[in-house]
Amino acid sequence: MANAADKPVGRRKFLSEAAAGAAGLVASPHIGSATPADFRASEQNAGHQNAPSDVALRVKALESILVEKGMIDPATIDAVIETYESKVGPRNGARVVARAWVDPAYRKRLLADGTSAIAELGYGGSQGEHMVVVENTATVHNLVVCTLCSCYPWPVLGLPPTWYKSAPYRSRAVIDPRGVLREFGVTLADDVQVRVWDSTAEIRYLVLPERPPGTEGMIEEQLAALVTRNAMVGVAKVSVPRGANA
Ligand code: FE
Repeated sequence: MANAADKPVGRRKFLSEAAAGAAGLVASPHIGSATPADFRASEQNAGHQNAPSDVALRVKALESILVEKGMIDPATIDAVIETYESKVGPRNGARVVARAWVDPAYRKRLLADGTSAIAELGYGGSQGEHMVVVENTATVHNLVVCTLCSCYPWPVLGLPPTWYKSAPYRSRAVIDPRGVLREFGVTLADDVQVRVWDSTAEIRYLVLPERPPGTEGMIEEQLAALVTRNAMVGVAKVSVPRGANA
């Protein structure tokens, strides 16, 4: 089952709407009954709760000039961003998760000191941020948010998806985490405790999802291929696609 929420929203659209927002052309986002689709839509509005930052406008202006002069190809830029947003980043985190699933000693180190254990696999923060890994179990489900802005574990997950930066997700993940999870397709039993972790510039969280049943015969690489970005943010569970060789 494909994860619709995993589909990256075009950054070009975001940039152009951020510019429109600066001109006061876009309505402010609604908060209250947002669905994942709303999270994605409102991310296009993310810049308009406040006007887009000077940096965002400057980047947009520079990019427009370079494209106009034929010095850069916008498709190439999008491809690079897309790579970091949905391929390179999340794949690093997936390798961390898969290693923890197959190597109990590694899992123990990962939960005790996420920063060091992640560095063992060659992934590290460029901004000196501290990594904390929180484990989902049959009785605890962890969800990661940054209520203040969009702090996110870049070295293991790449660029944050736009819904992660949206006002509805940032507020509702705290107010109504079970409701948010339901909208992402995760329904938790009442006796499962939900823990919401608010990321900061100094501390970034990574969810260690539960290893799905039926994967006992899989090797580490096969397991890593199952792990999605959303599962490591805590808005999805890891599942085995039908027909997968388990
Ligand atoms: Fe932040």
